[in-house]
Amino acid sequence: MTAKIIDGKTIAQEVRAEWKVRADALKARGITPGLAVIIVGEDAASRIYVGNKVKACAELGIHSEHIALPADTPETALLAKIAELNANTAIHGILVQLPVPKHIDSNKVLEAISPRKDVDGFHPQNVGALVAGNAALPPCTPYGAMNLLEKMGIEIEGKHAVVVGRSNIVGKPMALMLLHKNATVTICTSRTSDLAHHTRDADILVVATGKPQMITGDMIKPGAAVIDVGINRLPGGKLVGDVDFDSAKEVAGYITPVPGGVGPMTITMLMANTVQAAERAIK
Ligand code: NDP
Repeated sequence: MTAKIIDGKTIAQEVRAEWKVRADALKARGITPGLAVIIVGEDAASRIYVGNKVKACAELGIHSEHIALPADTPETALLAKIAELNANTAIHGILVQLPVPKHIDSNKVLEAISPRKDVDGFHPQNVGALVAGNAALPPCTPYGAMNLLEKMGIEIEGKHAVVVGRSNIVGKPMALMLLHKNATVTICTSRTSDLAHHTRDADILVVATGKPQMITGDMIKPGAAVIDVGINRLPGGKLVGDVDFDSAKEVAGYITPVPGGVGPMTITMLMANTVQAAERAIK
């Protein structure tokens, strides 16, 4: 079997076009959705991510503010900046690019962002809403992965979904979203014994471990839908996922490539959350 490739780039364009319609409708009512992205320090990868976010905003006609603060910014100054943006009616979404420098408590930062403007979906109030099954602003990466499954017409209800990884930003919210769509969900971690036993039973396999190419074709059920969230750079510079694409595509029914799978959807869902936050602001 050769898997159908889940083309995240094309699907992201389609989803962005849908959200642009909603952004345009807001504009017609005199409201331009606005996103503020704060970056503290000089981390090169973070700067690229922020640049991509600002570019995506321009594409959808979303107003964006890129706030670059020096690495030695005191925590109090960052919290004051967030408070200012919370009160700014032209800004509907606030995102602080993680990681922040070590002298800043990231939990304090995430809790300082107004839950109504928390477009990353990391504020405890939004995490609680996700657990309860009524998230208004779902975390972008798993939200994007769910959109990929939906756009590919992959059935979730009644299926066995296995999520490898339990981070707060990907694994846990992904498992909850699949559960809310009536999948039977298994979560695997670094402590799981006989990982392959679980992955081989997955109709939907989501992998978010940060361990390059750790899931190989022999660990996949024939015909399964494989969502590879991982982004890893090999020593030679090549980008690979947490799934060994070449062996996996011979077994799976559907598979996301890396790059070009989940990655483009993450930024797309950030745009979606910004538009959603702006829509809610006028309700
Ligand atoms: P974390 O490091 O926060 O979490 C990794 C998880 O994987 C942990 O729960 C860990 O288990 C589990 N794990 C690690 N090794 C194994 C193993 N051998 N077997 C089973 N489970 C294992 O990573 P993130 O969730 O933040 O990111 C995961 C990957 O996704 C990374 O490659 C990251 O770059 C990528 N990513 C991609 C995004 C995108 O837009 N496409 C966005 C965010 C992340 P334990 O809890 O027991 O330690």
